[in-house]
Amino acid sequence: MKFDDLLSGFIRLHILHHAAEHEIYGQWMIDELGRHGYRLSPGTLYPMLHAMEGKGYLTSRVQRDGRVTKKLYKATKVGKRGLDLAKHKVREFTGEAMKR
Ligand SMILES: [Zn+2]
Repeated sequence: MKFDDLLSGFIRLHILHHAAEHEIYGQWMIDELGRHGYRLSPGTLYPMLHAMEGKGYLTSRVQRDGRVTKKLYKATKVGKRGLDLAKHKVREFTGEAMKR
């Protein structure tokens, strides 16, 4: 994706936002981000989810449905705290950036 280095923080916040509300899984998140105009492949999103779990922002469990397994993620306390902080920063930034 073009400018993905600039936008990857927003994508992570987006993931945290939804994972704080309910459990998410990879394909759901790809579809949701697609609705917002972010086109991510599984090869980009899955490592991102793993990295966010490694940092303690997300926790996961595996759900088996017959032969299909799904990894479900939700935000941890640390992830929710990070999201709250980032929301303040986004609000502050938006206030400044939108004046122009
Ligand atoms: Zn969304």
